Order: sequence, then C-alpha cells, then structure tokens
Amino acid sequence: MPSEGGVQVRGMSAFRSLLPVNHSGTQRPLNSLYHQASFLASASRLNNAPSDSGLEVAFSGRSNAGKSSALNTITQQKSLARVSKTPGRTQLLNFFQLDDVRRLVDLPGYGYAKVPEGMHKSWGSMIESYLSQRKALKGVFLIMDIRHPLTDFDLRMIEWCQHFDLALHVVLTKSDKLSRGAGMDVLKKVRGTLTARYAQPVSVSLFSSLKRSGVEEAHQVLDGWLEVVTKAP
Ligand code: GDP
Repeated sequence: MPSEGGVQVRGMSAFRSLLPVNHSGTQRPLNSLYHQASFLASASRLNNAPSDSGLEVAFSGRSNAGKSSALNTITQQKSLARVSKTPGRTQLLNFFQLDDVRRLVDLPGYGYAKVPEGMHKSWGSMIESYLSQRKALKGVFLIMDIRHPLTDFDLRMIEWCQHFDLALHVVLTKSDKLSRGAGMDVLKKVRGTLTARYAQPVSVSLFSSLKRSGVEEAHQVLDGWLEVVTKAP
C-alpha cells in the first residue's frame, strides 16, 4: 500500500519541474493535465507525505459540500475522489498526481457529526501543519455548497489561508440548485463579505458538478497556480 511511510513521488525528475506539460510547441488540449490525474498516496501527517517538491493545490470543504464531485468533475473522471472516501482514508491527506511535478491534494472533510472531539483536534492540527509547512502548496480550493456558504468550517479555512499567506479560490458548487439570478446574488454576497473582511484577495466562482459548469474557470485558476503554460494555436 503506498499510503504509509516516506512515499516518493513516482517518476519525479527534478526540475523539468516548471516546464509546461507539453513543451513541444503544440497546444495542450485544455483538460488533458487534469484528466490524467491518478491516485498517488495517502498520508496521515506531513512526514509521511510525498516529497515536498513541485507544485500542488489542495481541495478542502465541509463534508457533503460537494468536494469529491468537484474533484471528479474538474479531472473529468467518474470516481477519482472515491479513493478519499474509502475506509481508512477519510481522515488522511490524499494526493493525486497530475504529472511529474504537479499534484492535487484532497484534504479530509470536516463536519461528520459523530466524529469525537479529540479527532476534531487532530484534524485541525494536521490541516494547520499542512497549510503552514508544505512548500509545494500553491493554493487552496475551498468548496462550499452554494446554499450554505461561509460556514464556521469555511471561515476557519479562510483565516488559515490568510494567516499563512496562501492563495484561495472559493468554489460555490451545486449552483444548479438555484436559479441563475439567485446564484449570482450569492456570488456577489460572498465576494462582498470576503472583500470586506479579509486583507488578501479571494476569488470566487460558481460551479456545478451536475451541469459541469464552471469547469473552465476552475482550470484557469489551477493553470495559474500550477504554472501550466498553454500556448495559443
Ligand atoms: P463531499 O462530502 O464534499 O465530497 O461531497 P460529495 O461530492 O460526495 O457530494 C455530496 C452530495 O451532494 C452527493 O449526494 C452529490 O451527488 C451531491 N452533489 C455534489 N455536487 C453536486 C452538484 O453540483 N449539484 C447537485 N445537484 N448535487 C451535487
């Protein structure tokens, strides 16, 4: 099992690192990098995570917000994130490899009612050390159910990202549950609240895994953070 103990990133060849995925001069099809995502490793804490080099983006969200569905939609895979929900892995950091140097990381969900207090504490310290110490981490996607944005969990994640100076993108998912107008209202409200409360800018976008909308915008943010260069045809 690749989940425990000092796992190395497969095929990591030091510093072809920041080259675009396709550097032959041809245009990379927009989704190919994300579509090739595959499970790499799970880690219970930072010191058994894949080596801290290259670039990664973490996905976070309250349980049931729609994080697994968003990861599957963004990677155009039916069940990529299912691995994070298998017994034994729900409380772990789950790493998905995009190419030799780029990764997406599924952070353990938060908010299961029956999780004991002690576990909430260990969840907090694991996430906090990951956010504060991981050098490869370039930004966080925070997934919120558009009908319940800015929960206490979300605010805690935002505070951490602000505190550790991490880029943050808020994805308001399940936007298909609201009319277009109501969805735009929530988008504006959340943007307004974040601008008023926080010093660092936070981007926000609408998303739906059901309708597969908002995917291109998500890819654009990821491309920027993961230093993916796409050439015009
Ligand atoms: P997670 O616990 O945050 O990983 O959430 P899941 O991705 O497992 O989704 C929780 C529930 O919300 C599931 O029943 C999904 O089918 C549903 N869901 C997720 N995304 C969407 C979406 O964009 N639209 C709708 N209508 N339902 C969604």
